[in-house]
Amino acid sequence: MSTKPTDVGAVDSPAPSSKQAALTDAEVQKIRSEFPCLQLHRHGKRLVYLDNAATTQKPRAVIEALSRYYEGQNANVHRGVHYLSALATELYESARKRIKEFLGAHLVCEIIFTRGATEGINLVAQTFGRQHVGPGDEILVSEMEHHSNIVPWQMLCEEKGANLRVIPINDRGELLMDQYEAMLTDRTRLVSIVHVSNALGTINPVRQIIQIAHGRGIPVLVDGAQSAPHMAINVAELGCDFFVCSGHKMMGPTGIGVLYGRAELLESMPPWHGGGDMILSVTFEKTIYNGIPQKFEAGTPHIEGVIGLGEAINYLQNLGMPRIQAYEAQLLDHGTRVLEAIDGLKIIGTAREKAGVLSFIMDHAHPHDIGQLLDEEGIAIRAGHHCAQPVMQRFQIPATARASLAFYNTREELDLLGEAILKVKKVFG
Ligand code: PMP
Repeated sequence: MSTKPTDVGAVDSPAPSSKQAALTDAEVQKIRSEFPCLQLHRHGKRLVYLDNAATTQKPRAVIEALSRYYEGQNANVHRGVHYLSALATELYESARKRIKEFLGAHLVCEIIFTRGATEGINLVAQTFGRQHVGPGDEILVSEMEHHSNIVPWQMLCEEKGANLRVIPINDRGELLMDQYEAMLTDRTRLVSIVHVSNALGTINPVRQIIQIAHGRGIPVLVDGAQSAPHMAINVAELGCDFFVCSGHKMMGPTGIGVLYGRAELLESMPPWHGGGDMILSVTFEKTIYNGIPQKFEAGTPHIEGVIGLGEAINYLQNLGMPRIQAYEAQLLDHGTRVLEAIDGLKIIGTAREKAGVLSFIMDHAHPHDIGQLLDEEGIAIRAGHHCAQPVMQRFQIPATARASLAFYNTREELDLLGEAILKVKKVFG
């Protein structure tokens, strides 16, 4: 399909955080001392960790929650009659309640634990998707999706003879909303859209996207892998039908994530994985499935992951998501100014509504060389296609170097990034 759009990109309504006081520099210094990995040194220099879109560092509170679990709370959940099992179950389920509050869901049973955003999207594709998508039907994604919000739908489309359609973006990396609206047809079965692009930093106007889709009775999945760590989310207010995120990008452990689904939809969907916990009764003739959320949580879950994620959410809530967002917006402004001042450097992704992602390319230096030279300066960024190859194709580049921010980063670190890039420039001329 054509990706030569007219330039009428989408801008979300002003972020609610703009009125909130940002974290102060003194608070950020205290926060930094709570993250052991931020104390590391590389080549004799304090580590500058700017790869937060890939994964965030973990505060001591989360690390301690994991050892506390293994040292004094370890048992399987939901099944035992003994003290430890009851304790582990209580911790596991109270983390679910905390996450329900964090995401603004109406009901605790709307929170399903997964391995991450990727598994959440696959779950929806393999259950809701298989149930509702048939030959000739359409699923709508955007040109700025992560591979995990492309490939599961391609697999489904292949199986069902359905079509994946792609909403184009403009040169700033903003969605073309008029084209989006025009692409919705009576064959569209789902819109699956990223909230914040990991490759460009664009914040998509998901509220508006959802309203437009719902106006035609089409459900919407929001990929919140890069939004949930950086801004207040309220799925009930947004009105989305599904929302996915990953614990490891939110200061929590790896291997744990969340799928939010509207209860009515989750109840009507078939299970995905079969096994223990997702059943009420089993005979060889007939199995009766459990209710939600257990229907979608077959087998022994990632118990310590859930408990660690609950602790991470607690940490984020204590700081306050609006204050985090306001501070990160200041950091992004500063980092953008630092990079824009460098001759021969081009920022890829200049949306008017942007989160803390600075993707860039430089004359004469391949992103991988930039990443390697910055590593020698103690600065961790990512170089590559960021699992968003269609974005690279859209901008006709093989890769970008990407610095991605979290609330524990500082302006001084971004100044160090700028100085190190100037050294890279000297090497590559
Ligand atoms: N969507 C986006 C926008 C992402 O940035 C990522 C991770 N880079 C994912 C989905 C997948 O997350 P995970 O690998 O944790 O499942």
